[in-house]
Amino acid sequence: MTRSEHIRALQEEYARQRAANEEDQEARIARTCAAIPEIGRLRQESTDLALNAMRSILAQQDEGQRVAAAKEMKRRGQEINARIRQLLIGAGLPEDELKPRYRCAVCRDTGYVGEAPARFCDCFEARLRLRQYEDGSMAGVDEQNFEHFDANRIPEADGQRAQLVKARQLCEDYANAFPNTAFRDLLLTGAGGLGKTFLLNCIFERVTRRGGSAVRITAFRMFEAMRQQHVGNDDNYEGFSALIDVPLLLIDDLGTEPMMRNITVEYLFTLLNERAAARRHTVVATNLSPVQIKERYGERVASRLLDRTRCAAILLKGKDLRGL
Ligand SMILES: [Zn+2]
Repeated sequence: MTRSEHIRALQEEYARQRAANEEDQEARIARTCAAIPEIGRLRQESTDLALNAMRSILAQQDEGQRVAAAKEMKRRGQEINARIRQLLIGAGLPEDELKPRYRCAVCRDTGYVGEAPARFCDCFEARLRLRQYEDGSMAGVDEQNFEHFDANRIPEADGQRAQLVKARQLCEDYANAFPNTAFRDLLLTGAGGLGKTFLLNCIFERVTRRGGSAVRITAFRMFEAMRQQHVGNDDNYEGFSALIDVPLLLIDDLGTEPMMRNITVEYLFTLLNERAAARRHTVVATNLSPVQIKERYGERVASRLLDRTRCAAILLKGKDLRGL
């Protein structure tokens, strides 16, 4: 199969996944409404409310009245949602019982992220590579897993090989033990081309192959999620909270994302802090040294990233391995 054939097949698979998600959501709604009839009534009211409000908003000539009608609709809508949440919790159900659930919350199983031009989500890329790898059309290109670690490619001089072999072992132990790892977090540092991204991808591959839930994201895409969250014009946008919630988050190339006032540092801190509070695992690869991390992100973020009690740090040194 060619790459574009794989892409098409994968897009169909994603469409089936979305249909399955919808079915699953509808089944949960039906079950919940049968068990708690008041929720069914409230949902109906919410639908009617939206329809009636639309009509009356359109019928109003006066701008002030239009705004007031829209406001009232919003207020009642929020009241209904709060009551539904209360009923769900009261019944011992999760708050999001009636909401859609996705295999990948970053792209909501569309396979795409970002605004035009949209790009493939990391989950899509990973599946695509796996398909190509499995049918042999990409042999030699996608070998970002522990099995394909070839120590002979690494120069022996200055202990570079021994150091990377040790790092690989640490990462593999981490991936095999997940979620019961010796250290909760991992920090991979060192200059470019020393194998950080490779190790990060290996951990991702192993953990997901073992059935763990993980998101691997470049710092640049992470920043996009933060920016979108900050702009906040999409109420359904869950990309950033997905990064907070995923059991294992792997951030590649931290330090290459744009620095935007009120966004980069603030959201990074929120992300790391909330993940730490919930004891979720985070792996970060960066070219930045500890000093540079402090300079770029400040003390609060640095203390989260460099917390020696919870984070194992791996420093890689030596010659650039790319092209060797
Ligand atoms: Zn995705």
